Amino acid sequence: MLRVVEQAAFSDTGRQRRANEDALLARAPLFAVADGMGGAKAGEIASRTAVDVLGLGVEDGIVRSRLVELVRRANREVHEAQLADTDLTGMGTTTTVAHIGPEMLTIAHVGDSRAYLMRDGSLRQLTDDHSLVEEMRRQGRLTAEEAAHHPQRSIITRALGPDPSVEVDVREFALEAGDVLLLCSDGLTTMLPEAKISDLISRNQRLDTAGRALIAAANAAGGRDNITVVLVRIGGLDDDVVDAVPDEDEQSTAVHPAVVPAFDEAATVAGSQAGATIDEVRARLEEEGGLSTPLAPRAPRTPSAARRRRIKAAILATVVTVVIMLGTGWGATRVTYFVGTSQGYVAIYQGLPYDLPFGLRLYRVVYTSGVPIASLTPAQQDRLLGHEPRTGQDAQDLVKAVERGELQ
Ligand code: MN
Repeated sequence: MLRVVEQAAFSDTGRQRRANEDALLARAPLFAVADGMGGAKAGEIASRTAVDVLGLGVEDGIVRSRLVELVRRANREVHEAQLADTDLTGMGTTTTVAHIGPEMLTIAHVGDSRAYLMRDGSLRQLTDDHSLVEEMRRQGRLTAEEAAHHPQRSIITRALGPDPSVEVDVREFALEAGDVLLLCSDGLTTMLPEAKISDLISRNQRLDTAGRALIAAANAAGGRDNITVVLVRIGGLDDDVVDAVPDEDEQSTAVHPAVVPAFDEAATVAGSQAGATIDEVRARLEEEGGLSTPLAPRAPRTPSAARRRRIKAAILATVVTVVIMLGTGWGATRVTYFVGTSQGYVAIYQGLPYDLPFGLRLYRVVYTSGVPIASLTPAQQDRLLGHEPRTGQDAQDLVKAVERGELQ
């Protein structure tokens, strides 16, 4: 009996693209990456659509066929969306999705994103790229070396979206405790040789540090494309489950510890919102009028003494909240945003940047950019992380400037 004991997921715009058209899913037992393509926002919509469909999940039963059905459904949705809107014509996305079962790993795959399995220090590619260059290499018409540097290596021969139906590769692999699964977009594998990828995974004990190291290395090598990395460690029932959020002292020292409160980073799967365009987020911000964070815990029916104490504390916290809200003009504007970091990335929060006693929080992440806070200068970090209450528009403009590299 095996299970997921640790996971980390990151998506980064890279250093040359303006937008991140990759999307990811990290919700055990399903993990996926999708690399969208198409003009304007079409690529982002394609990859997001695929990941949203995959997020519906597979019920118990024959995982293999259900996973294929899910990918086919994702194909139909991307295909129909592009038929319905001329702005989306020609959009498509890769998809590599993994299901972690109690013994077996099942992978369904279309395109040139990849799945790898790291076992006993060696990295093995589990998927075949559906790309022109890789097909020529498999036919012996190109050497591996020629394929790696071929100018047409980004041309893919299979994707979700272009056709009403799609051929899906599906494979099963027996899992072992200690295995690490890597799903990634080609923004990682075209920038880094496999030896480097393997080295960074083995050298970092934690998957979140390994994931950050992979993204940083791909960026250091040029970051020519969006980079997405999903890492999953498999263990037995006796193995400890590693918390998704590292301890404070393990976090990057480049993030200002003094001004970054203990945000509920676990609530946000890194990168899960990175595929949304700022306009989509704007639409979402406009739709949502209120703060979803509960201001007081649900009152129990028959309160014990301890519970009564907690209720009193909650009432006190609520009073404090109201005072803070009035003091910051929250009541007048109804909704306040601020800019902070989530898992090391510049993010927009809705709410107020305060923690109240008893774990009450007044904020939540509404948008995560692909920009690591560590990539900004100390002066830029100061500008961003002051946690001043902002309007939604102001927060978006600020983060947009960061994404465009135009922040002073
Ligand atoms: Mn790509």
